Amino acid sequence: MSENKTKCLIIGSGPAGYTAAIYTSRANLSPILYEGLQPGGQLTITTEVENFPGYPEGVTGPQLMEDLRRQAERFGTDMRAGLVTSVDFNKKPFEATIEDGSVIKADTIIIATGASAKYLGLPDEKKYNGLGVSACATCDGFFYRKKTVAVVGGGDTACEEALYLSNLASKVYMIVRKDYLRASQVMQKRVFDKENIEVLFNTNTLGLYGEEFLEGAHLVEHKGTDKEREFDITIDGFFLAIGHKPNTDIFRDFINLDETGYIKLEGPTSATNIPGVFAAGDVADPRYRQAISAAGMGCRAALDVEKYLAEQE
Ligand code: NDP
Repeated sequence: MSENKTKCLIIGSGPAGYTAAIYTSRANLSPILYEGLQPGGQLTITTEVENFPGYPEGVTGPQLMEDLRRQAERFGTDMRAGLVTSVDFNKKPFEATIEDGSVIKADTIIIATGASAKYLGLPDEKKYNGLGVSACATCDGFFYRKKTVAVVGGGDTACEEALYLSNLASKVYMIVRKDYLRASQVMQKRVFDKENIEVLFNTNTLGLYGEEFLEGAHLVEHKGTDKEREFDITIDGFFLAIGHKPNTDIFRDFINLDETGYIKLEGPTSATNIPGVFAAGDVADPRYRQAISAAGMGCRAALDVEKYLAEQE
């Protein structure tokens, strides 16, 4: 029967979770890591990763995560499939209940549950995922040099992604459902000043089309009014930028979150408001959201765990 008591429980298996596992296992803390619903995290749904240091020829997202996982296992991380469904941070040691009903007791916890990009919910988004549909311009924009792309959303992220893509692609559409951008004035101005960005206001996406790869999108403007009009745009890439949802639902009774649900870190470390509970990666980072920055946060959380445990002894 597997051990259900640990000095360090890591929840989540993206770059932050695996890096925390590499560090804590090398420090002889015998961590248990629960991989969650999507082992490997968001990177397993991207294709080529070219900006993670150490891979001069690039690496696929799934391969990168497999490498990180193997590195953590090499030092003895107890890697477990399964989802943590609830936690109790009032108890000491802390308790985490797994979907099979088992309970893990842990002296420290690193929350690395990540965030999930929001999608529109169209069946075509799944069909063309990795074949033209992406939720990360920084990850995939490079593949659309001199091509035509569309970005969905009218917030700061959408503007940032559109601006980033406008330096690579020849033409960028922004598909905005309202008649205004929600983004900050400065971002709006940058978008409007860019000659190769065209903002399609009052426009929604009905579907996507293409033989093998994405070739275009079916759109509708002024939906539900007498000005309603359906039309198509020819595009090679379709980028979702309608927000991310941090995976913090099971922690909200204990952990301080910001107004959009991200974990608030205490000061410059990875500490949360509960001593002994730390957070790393996108779950606590609405700003950078990169694999390498998440990995860096995982390292910091592991070092904070070590220090915390040493201080307890
Ligand atoms: P936001 O929630 O600010 O914006 C989401 C955008 O997506 C809105 O335009 C929204 O439309 C649209 N949208 C949402 N759901 C749908 C849907 N189903 N169909 C079509 N459109 C949809 O999210 P962001 O990720 O842009 O930003 C999150 C936070 O991070 C914000 O506070 C932002 O200011 C901040 N941020 C700051 C940056 C910076 O300062 N450089 C960079 C990036 C983010 P609608 O307006 O109609 O609701």
